[in-house]
Amino acid sequence: MRYYSTRSKAEAVSFAAAALTGLAPDGGLFVPEEIPQYPRYVTASLGSMGFHAIAFETIKPYVQGEIPDPVLEDLVLQAFSFSAPLLPVGDRLMLELFHGPTAAFKDFGARFMARAFSYVRRGAEKPLHILVATSGDTGGAVADGFYGIEGISVTVLYPRGRVSPLQERQIAGLGGNISALAVEGSFDDCQRLVKAALGNESLKKRLALSSANSINVARLIPQAVYYAAAAGKALAGTLDPDGEATPRVKDRGAEGGVRSGSTPLLTVVPSGNFGNLTAGLYAMKMGAPIQGFIAATNINKTVPDYLASGKYEARVSQATISNAMDVGAPSNFERMTAHWSYEALRKMILGVAVADEDTRQAIRRVHDTCGYFLDPHGAVGWEAADRLQGLLPPGPLAVLATAHPAKFAETVEPLTGPVPVPLSLKKVMERRVDARIIPADITALLEVLS
Ligand SMILES: *Cc1c(COP(=O)(O)O)cnc(C)c1O
Repeated sequence: MRYYSTRSKAEAVSFAAAALTGLAPDGGLFVPEEIPQYPRYVTASLGSMGFHAIAFETIKPYVQGEIPDPVLEDLVLQAFSFSAPLLPVGDRLMLELFHGPTAAFKDFGARFMARAFSYVRRGAEKPLHILVATSGDTGGAVADGFYGIEGISVTVLYPRGRVSPLQERQIAGLGGNISALAVEGSFDDCQRLVKAALGNESLKKRLALSSANSINVARLIPQAVYYAAAAGKALAGTLDPDGEATPRVKDRGAEGGVRSGSTPLLTVVPSGNFGNLTAGLYAMKMGAPIQGFIAATNINKTVPDYLASGKYEARVSQATISNAMDVGAPSNFERMTAHWSYEALRKMILGVAVADEDTRQAIRRVHDTCGYFLDPHGAVGWEAADRLQGLLPPGPLAVLATAHPAKFAETVEPLTGPVPVPLSLKKVMERRVDARIIPADITALLEVLS
């Protein structure tokens, strides 16, 4: 597969080049030259295939000729070492994407990307050095994804004192090939420092540098996998029993209302940078039985407004309780519009924006009626689907649960009482933070890296 920049078709690059470069030289995002189709034997058996087999079939055409089949088979086994259960909750389905090591869906992309980088750079002379700036969640997933991966080291920059104790332990508690820098400044300062370092000529001469931000194709493509797997299960009616980490306290609500079985899946995607939703569009176009999407945002509603008016207006982001979605200028928007026109996007996506107070009420209501704990991001999705009751086409409806509620206990527990904490997060809290504190200054960063 060849990849182009969203801004020009002048130069095609390989998967490896697109992944290792991250951003195209002209400032655009890399997109595949076409969205491949699943072979018929795959679409016919998505409901009975295992997750790893679906992962292999989904990713294969995007890396063909660069990652041999047996390597890819092994890679998806290593990357997706946890499940993505689809469960009935009340009158709908929840697709739980938080069973990975950092308890958020970003584990899918980060773990695949780490192993793909390692493979495509096998035999390289210099070790690869990855720089990431994070406001909290991305850094944890990237650090964990690359932890122990051969030939690659990672430096994560985070704003000192502005991430949660859990997030800090996920970023700065690993050691080994992962270094953490607590920057005396904001997330924007961290991003500025990373950009400056990536553009520093003398540093680039000494180190093979890359970034691992959310626009990377190697993070995007693996996210199509769980859409295809869930859509297959919904169509076949093969739902999962409660998983071990499923945060429930009482019996689930009435299941009689779950609409499943004959029509393609409608998916509700809590969205910020719109990487997750773009991956869903890829899965649908590849032939997974998906009929459309609800793009659920918090008050940072740039995309729902665009869908309503046809005008795109980026804004400054506003802080909310679903903070991983506090994005005013979603970077994957450029990718969506490179593939599809406004009319085409409107046919596939309904946009809904939900304010914090309604998000809180949804968390309380779903816990009261179904005994199910939503995190603030999943709750935005649940509430968005409620708003559209009566307007939606028939068929099964799945809300993506993008993070485990225990990650946001300070918001969730006042509404529901104590949230059961999964073992993976308990273990993280026992880690010791080992970060170097630096001023928000490029010379300080360059000194650390030299
Ligand atoms: C990153 C994140 C999102 C937003 O995903 P995008 O791909 O940026 O739209 C939603 N929920 C959680 C918990 C996240 O970490």
